[in-house]
Amino acid sequence: MILHDAQKRLRQARPSDLEIEDVGLLAALGRVAACDIKSLIAIPPADNSAMDGFAVNAAEMREGSEYSISQRIAAGQAPTPLEEGTVARIFTGANMPDGADAVVIQEHCDYTENTVKINRSAEPGSNVRPLGQDIQIGAVVINKGQRLNSVDLSLLASIGVAEVPVYERLKVAIFSTGDELVEPGEPLQEGQIYNSNRALLTGLCRELGYEVIDCGIVKDTLEETKSALSNAAKCAHLILSSGGVSVGEEDYIKPAIEELGSLDMWRVQMKPGKPVAYGSIEGTRFLGLPGNPVSSFVVFQLLGVPLMQTLQKQNQSQPLTYMVEAGFDKKVTSREEYIRVKLVRRADGELVADRFKNLSSGILSSLSWADGLVRHEIGEKIERGMKVAYLPMTRSML
Ligand code: AMP
Ligand code: MG
Repeated sequence: MILHDAQKRLRQARPSDLEIEDVGLLAALGRVAACDIKSLIAIPPADNSAMDGFAVNAAEMREGSEYSISQRIAAGQAPTPLEEGTVARIFTGANMPDGADAVVIQEHCDYTENTVKINRSAEPGSNVRPLGQDIQIGAVVINKGQRLNSVDLSLLASIGVAEVPVYERLKVAIFSTGDELVEPGEPLQEGQIYNSNRALLTGLCRELGYEVIDCGIVKDTLEETKSALSNAAKCAHLILSSGGVSVGEEDYIKPAIEELGSLDMWRVQMKPGKPVAYGSIEGTRFLGLPGNPVSSFVVFQLLGVPLMQTLQKQNQSQPLTYMVEAGFDKKVTSREEYIRVKLVRRADGELVADRFKNLSSGILSSLSWADGLVRHEIGEKIERGMKVAYLPMTRSML
């Protein structure tokens, strides 16, 4: 199966049965809204001044004339209607008095405490933020399925929302298979390696707002693999495993899933990461990632994320891709390939993607070096200087 079809299939998975809970505004960061949220108030709630200056009736103003100041309105104060033939001293964020329709900024005036000479007149509406300019009553400010970020929370705060209905966090059970694995902190015996996928997958899931159930290391036997899977199926919405997913003598994921539940997808034409299994056990979804940490990472990003977003009832994020120049050549590929690259800026300002020299998926340091992946489509050749699709590995704004 090609990657695109596999992604489509995972996006069509049946979402998990998730409870809805009300959480305090600040606790809603990274959670997924369980309904549309509409504003019960207008923002701004009244016409107010965008500048420090003088609130006037624009039609009455004559350039060069002097007016008396009949009231002083600071932000937070309630004005009285503007007396005819006068102006009001006003400050940024203060409500406009009835009868005034413009603000002349203080830089365009000569003024004392009681009088002001207007040196430049104003059009009706100038320097005024009208009622409802930002948000109208009844406007939907957050959509169901939206994952809430800091800006979303500030928008909710601006309309006075203190509690947000969100879906419970998707519970993801994670285990690593392999007789060779030990956890950091343990001494390393001959033939052993440290488990790096546990830290990788746990971290990625947490960054995405999911709850991780740590199921440790599972030995390479059919019995242990089955028992890990059926225990995890009882407490999670999704099981993520790493390793043991090929057809070697020490790979037990496929037979275990086939015995306990159903295997719906196996092997995807992608590189790194061809061995991958998707299925379910008693209603709990299962995604088996390859053991190599680089492959695990790539499959997690390209297949795990769309699946988890679907299960979490979350709107699908659009993967960001940028067209940049390739700084390397690569032969035609028969599997959609994701190449670890780093962007460098050439002297002429152009961004060029440099490839990590060793393409082996066993090289974890290549991921740490890279800042993104370049997509290499089936049947295409990459030549230095041509534009290629670059996917950043982080969404950080810095
Ligand atoms: P497997 O998919 O189980 O055949 O594993 C492929 C390669 O990835 C082997 O070299 C494993 O030792 C390595 N590997 C598997 N799981 C992990 C893990 N959790 N952490 C680090 N390397 C792993
Ligand atoms: Mg293994």
